[in-house]
Amino acid sequence: MPSVFYYISFYAIIQFMSERCFKCFKPKSVCLCKYGKELDTGVKFVFLMHPKEFRRTRTGTGYLSHLCLKDSEIIVGLDFTKNARFQQLLNDPQYYPALMYPGEDAITAETITQKLDEASTDPAPQKKLLLIILDATWFCAKKMIEHNQFLLELPKLSFSGSYRSIFTFKREPSPECISTIECCYYIIKELQAGNFVDPALDPEPLMNIFKAMIKLQLTAENERVLGIRTNSHDYDAKYNKIKEIPDFL
Ligand SMILES: [Zn+2]
Repeated sequence: MPSVFYYISFYAIIQFMSERCFKCFKPKSVCLCKYGKELDTGVKFVFLMHPKEFRRTRTGTGYLSHLCLKDSEIIVGLDFTKNARFQQLLNDPQYYPALMYPGEDAITAETITQKLDEASTDPAPQKKLLLIILDATWFCAKKMIEHNQFLLELPKLSFSGSYRSIFTFKREPSPECISTIECCYYIIKELQAGNFVDPALDPEPLMNIFKAMIKLQLTAENERVLGIRTNSHDYDAKYNKIKEIPDFL
């Protein structure tokens, strides 16, 4: 027989979700879905999500990326060697898996078409790019790689350009650590430049929903400082300053 705690937690979840959008998990009053749009890129995106990131739905951008990308899925875990779904995708002959990761041996968006041509055998249709993205903070991504060394044996795809994050208040070691949604945005743009993804596709909904999320977070943080919302960071000065909301948002 379920315990009383079962009913309390079940009720709490129902209560929590009844006030939230089921897609973006934001409160219904500030739902971000209107800023995004489902993009059909022709690439399958797989977000490997660290369990810590899974719990950080408020600031994580993996969910927002998943919302905006038609053929995408999130797989949560630490050890993916034993993850049945991930292994199924890796072994599916219709896909050419590549890990979004820097390295001297990494391929770029310019050379991906050639790689897929080489990997496809006639008369089978050309393989579909299965782009694996580690959806984790810089520190957690390192841990994920430590637990899943086999990922480094996959072909790696990296950026030709260098990008800085607009998400500057996120506690990453440097602005060069871009968020998951920015990673999707920039790689789609590079794949478009290489004619691998239809150049007519507009990737801006990814950036629009991301900017809307930042604006929402900055507004909420300022409301906490002003006492409009409960502030759980009373003893840390960095959470008690009003943040300027940049014009570009
Ligand atoms: Zn929503």
